[in-house]
Amino acid sequence: MLEKQPLDKVYDPKKVEDKWYQYWLDRGYFRAEVRPDREPFTIVIPPPNVTDVLHMGHAYNNTIQDIFVRYRRMRGYETLWLPGTDHAGIATQNVVERKLYREQKLTRHDLGREKFLELVWQWREKYGNTIIEQLKKLGCSCDWSRTRFTLDPSYYRAVMEVFVRLYRKGLIYRGNYIVNWCPRCETALSDEEAIHKEHHGNLWYIRYPIKGEPGYVVVATTRPETMLGDVAVAVHPSDRRYQGLVGKMLILPIMEREIPVIADELVDPEFGTGAVKVTPAHDPNDFEIGRRHGLEPINVMNGDGTMNANAGRYAGYPRFECRKAVVQELEEKGLLEKIETHSHAVAHCQRCDTVLEPYLSEQWFVRIKPLAEPALRVVQEGKIQFHPERWVKVYTNWMENIRDWCISRQLWWGHRIPVYTCEDCRHQMVEVDAPEKCEKCGSRRIQQDEDVLDTWFSSWLWPFATLGWPQITEDLKHFYPTDVLVTAQDIIFFWVARMIMAGLEFMGEIPFRHVYIHGIIRDAQGRKMSKSLGNGIDPLEMVQKYSADAVRFSLMMLTSEGQDINLAESDFEIGRNFSNKLWNAFRFLHMNYEPRHIEMAASRQFEASPQELDVADRWILSRLRHAATRATEGIEGFHLDDMISSLYSFFWHEYCDWYLEWIKPRLFGQDRHAKDRSLAVAIYVMRELVKLLHPVVPFITEEIWHHLKLSEEPDLVVTSWPEIPASYSDPQAETAMTQLQSLITSVRTIRAEMRVPPAKKAEVFVRVDQDGTFAELIRENAEYIHFLAGAERIEVGPNVSKPKSSASAVVAGAEIYVPLADLIDLEVERNRLRKEIARLEKLLAELNQKLASHEFIQRAPQEVVERERQKKQKFEMDLEKLRANLASLD
Ligand SMILES: [Zn+2]
Ligand SMILES: [Zn+2]
Repeated sequence: MLEKQPLDKVYDPKKVEDKWYQYWLDRGYFRAEVRPDREPFTIVIPPPNVTDVLHMGHAYNNTIQDIFVRYRRMRGYETLWLPGTDHAGIATQNVVERKLYREQKLTRHDLGREKFLELVWQWREKYGNTIIEQLKKLGCSCDWSRTRFTLDPSYYRAVMEVFVRLYRKGLIYRGNYIVNWCPRCETALSDEEAIHKEHHGNLWYIRYPIKGEPGYVVVATTRPETMLGDVAVAVHPSDRRYQGLVGKMLILPIMEREIPVIADELVDPEFGTGAVKVTPAHDPNDFEIGRRHGLEPINVMNGDGTMNANAGRYAGYPRFECRKAVVQELEEKGLLEKIETHSHAVAHCQRCDTVLEPYLSEQWFVRIKPLAEPALRVVQEGKIQFHPERWVKVYTNWMENIRDWCISRQLWWGHRIPVYTCEDCRHQMVEVDAPEKCEKCGSRRIQQDEDVLDTWFSSWLWPFATLGWPQITEDLKHFYPTDVLVTAQDIIFFWVARMIMAGLEFMGEIPFRHVYIHGIIRDAQGRKMSKSLGNGIDPLEMVQKYSADAVRFSLMMLTSEGQDINLAESDFEIGRNFSNKLWNAFRFLHMNYEPRHIEMAASRQFEASPQELDVADRWILSRLRHAATRATEGIEGFHLDDMISSLYSFFWHEYCDWYLEWIKPRLFGQDRHAKDRSLAVAIYVMRELVKLLHPVVPFITEEIWHHLKLSEEPDLVVTSWPEIPASYSDPQAETAMTQLQSLITSVRTIRAEMRVPPAKKAEVFVRVDQDGTFAELIRENAEYIHFLAGAERIEVGPNVSKPKSSASAVVAGAEIYVPLADLIDLEVERNRLRKEIARLEKLLAELNQKLASHEFIQRAPQEVVERERQKKQKFEMDLEKLRANLASLD
């Protein structure tokens, strides 16, 4: 036999949340096993950087994942939510470098590679798990026994294997290329790591004297210091202004070097003067032009952004000081034609915000087209679906214009490139394991490439490297491909697209079936939350203050498909209020039920004698069926906003506002049988409701469930997702209940508008056309109407006539009268009606004028005109009624 446990009056999440999280962990509910008899459901977490602390974006992203995972677990799937972290090459290295400089005024070069890496590992041991612990506070049901890190030894092997395979397939090559270069981080960056910002700068017009002739060619540039590395001046082949000049030589100012005038299609005749300087080592277009014309690039800059020996007397100048000095020298020599202000996009380092240089250097690249084509196809064929679907277009556009991927980084923290060179014979070897000696000459003097791989070169393998690949493990066979990837839109290209390429290339299979793309969390004014603005809201602080359930629920209530969310701290009250409402609803039941009622509810005893259920019972069961169906369809169809709004309005506006109120007369009445039945239905609905809400608010629902479950029933986290019988659907009860609600609401409205004191009981007269079902319904439920509408007597029938001085309303074709003489001051009501009539008369006059205007009738769209006509009709009817009411008060 069940025992009834005492209950706190006020819900205290602090007593509840940690308790249940530990309870679930202790019982291993989040651990996935390879079970061939069960269908798997797999999600891999977008691995946060080891440098991350939980921010609102993570909280949102992981709440969504947890909803999908908890739902599937309840549906009986073998769920695996695989967690882990990313070593985040450049981000982590920067953090440790800054710390080293702050504390010891040392750079990484002072320490050397080995010592510095030791320091990064120490940092990682100490801080690298912060975010994992924080995810637990949020309630995330990850399989922590499978936590992965992108530098784990087994993960390392996967990365090496991939490099070697692509290299042998000819898809990795080394080339001199113009890359995005950060002079502060001293590394190459991918296009996606280069952040473009609008910059208000200058356009300098420089005169290049023509050799052996008077006169100049004028070129315009935004970066005058790069002229030191010019190798030519180019014009468009069909540009008439320069036709006689092509083939002639110019004297490059300052450097006094002779350079040719060449013609090339790439030149934009509209830019500047139509003649452009060609600097192949410092501009991607110029690099192309230089290659086509066989011009050797001249690199004038060091990796740290200072000028090198090729810059002549400016060697050693930092780049922007060199710019000033060059401009000054040109001016002094009379070679500066003019300066114009000029706005253009300038690339900045994603990590440190330094202005990037297009910079010529030797890097490793992945030939991306052969990988992108199949990855584009699986999305276009619908094998991988994007939610919302509009992202397919963005994805397609990007994939069709994709450029080769620069994968080498001049960093120390990361996977070092597995390319080995013999120092004696220069033979090159690419191997997973470091070769001990040269395979050609046998020398043991072997040098590994200094660079490491782009972080994304490891995270693009995440869906299968985490499951053991390149070993074909049981995990890999069972849990791959994964089901859903949940991500924000900003890493679709960095990560999502590349995972699709890698999955197809190395597994021969898509990595996931669905990609759920959610919006970004912004502050209340719609600005991105950032450290520099100080406008972030700390999710853990909110968990402390409002509870994890409240944080999760609030974020989900604010969700509307794929849209960004504007968030203020006060929004978390939504979640707290919801938790409190849920607790109070349950506490109301708890004050009234005995343990046997739970058994009656669990066995759905009320089904045995359906004729005993009254209209409200049948209605709430029907509405439960409706809400459960919508919630299930919402979650299955990736419309989480539908799921949450249907559960919210069912619980709040139907179960609490109506049903729990409706049954009070029975709970407090003498009919024990009726009381039992009401409690059984109310508890049944509450039991199913906490199941439906569990994926969103896991803690409070588990707590309530442990009061409402039978001892042999499982914990909520692993109980079955509700299947509400189709037979509960009852359109007749829904119609009837809607009519009764309208009746009660209109009496309440009359009472409120007339300011009838709550203690005064009203009489209600209802005139129906004929003595049919509505009249019957009212008589049957008179007791409830009395209770809910503050009435003491209801008279209903076709012969009811309007009592003197009464307010009226119309519901379901019936006229409702509430005599007012005993309740209020009639003069006040007369004034109200007169005012209302005057207001409507004015509106009607305006509307009539509008509809009489030819211009309006002809110009406005048909449906607008129609809407105005209907409005007019309604105003006329309302006026008629109000005038009649006013008359009736006499
Ligand atoms: Zn940087
Ligand atoms: Zn050798």
